[in-house]
Amino acid sequence: MKIAIIAHDGKKAEMVRFLSNAHEILKQEGIKLIATGTTGSHVVAGGLEVERVASGPMGGDAQIAAQITEGKIHMVFFFRDPLDKHPHEPDVLMLMRICDVHNVPLATNPATAELILKGL
Ligand code: PGA
Repeated sequence: MKIAIIAHDGKKAEMVRFLSNAHEILKQEGIKLIATGTTGSHVVAGGLEVERVASGPMGGDAQIAAQITEGKIHMVFFFRDPLDKHPHEPDVLMLMRICDVHNVPLATNPATAELILKGL
């Protein structure tokens, strides 16, 4: 199983913390991670292995969406920052729409992501 990891700038530290806490279950379930560029760098610096695509504003969200469409990504943790503006908002909405089109679980905050992991 592969989970896509994306965090807006204001949420990157929270994502790294979340993944560190979830490290055991990710390992236990043999879950692979794929992330947008900058989120991926933070996750790697936090000591986890992750495959990286382009940075979100440079098309990374679109790359993740394409892989969801191809059935290569099975879950998305997208910690959005509701208090900031994003130049790639159309891509963000597109990614969320693609999750709904393909019935792929999408967590937009740590509380939801935690519940999803508990359900594995
Ligand atoms: P980033 O992209 O991980 O390259 O910062 C995330 C995003 O879509 O904002």
